[in-house]
Amino acid sequence: MPELPDLEILKEALQSRILARKIQSARALRPGIMKTTSPSLDELIGRAFIGVTRRGKYLIFSLGPALHLVVHLMLAGRFVLCKSGTQITKATGLQITFPDGEDLRLIENGSIKLVKVHVVTDPLEVSGIPSAGVEPLSPEFTVQVLSKMAHGRRCHAKKLLTDQHAIAGIGSAYADEILFAARMSPVRYVNTLSGDELERLHDSTVNVLSEAIKEIRSRIGDSLFTDDIRDFLKVYRRTGEPCPVCGAKIAEIRYANTRTYYCPVCQAGGK
Ligand SMILES: [Zn+2]
Repeated sequence: MPELPDLEILKEALQSRILARKIQSARALRPGIMKTTSPSLDELIGRAFIGVTRRGKYLIFSLGPALHLVVHLMLAGRFVLCKSGTQITKATGLQITFPDGEDLRLIENGSIKLVKVHVVTDPLEVSGIPSAGVEPLSPEFTVQVLSKMAHGRRCHAKKLLTDQHAIAGIGSAYADEILFAARMSPVRYVNTLSGDELERLHDSTVNVLSEAIKEIRSRIGDSLFTDDIRDFLKVYRRTGEPCPVCGAKIAEIRYANTRTYYCPVCQAGGK
């Protein structure tokens, strides 16, 4: 699932490719992909993209002060730019055609289709946007804000980091990386965190996310972002591999549909 660093880079890549380009046609290939009916997708025709922004895990494509296409890529959504004649496949959810014979397509592989597209006059009409928590790379995300959040609830540290209503944009992979950097157990109750621990968790959140953006940007070069680049992560999907800090084997916890990767020595006192 694309998370904040992936989406930041995707946003930049899209900005450089689609801004100021006029839309000749727009159609949904899978009816269920559209979560709104009015304004219709036809409203986009003849308009040009004037902005691409991100809020939490949503990408917001602006076509005017009162017309926005809002996309949540969920688990497997991807954007591609291709020639308009390229064959439409079952994975194609949305096709936006430019007059020069190029398409921006929204692709979702796999049998379960989760990608959500909204056409709205105001992005705040998409319920996940007004309810989104603080942006962790904004000045509003301070130790004090995190501390207030943590002390107001009794939940595990990973749960807090991935709660979109608390902090926006972090998913399972980056939550694991942040907790590893903070040397904190993923199942630590956040209401028990000391001042020092809150500071460590805050700083790790900011550092891990900003370093990841830099790393992905340096790898992406000139290509349109097509897949989550995750091989530089230290614990994510590294079960059984040595911890880069202490050499102990990275462990995993499976719970419901999520997996959590952590170092038992660095983060959990050997547990
Ligand atoms: Zn370790």
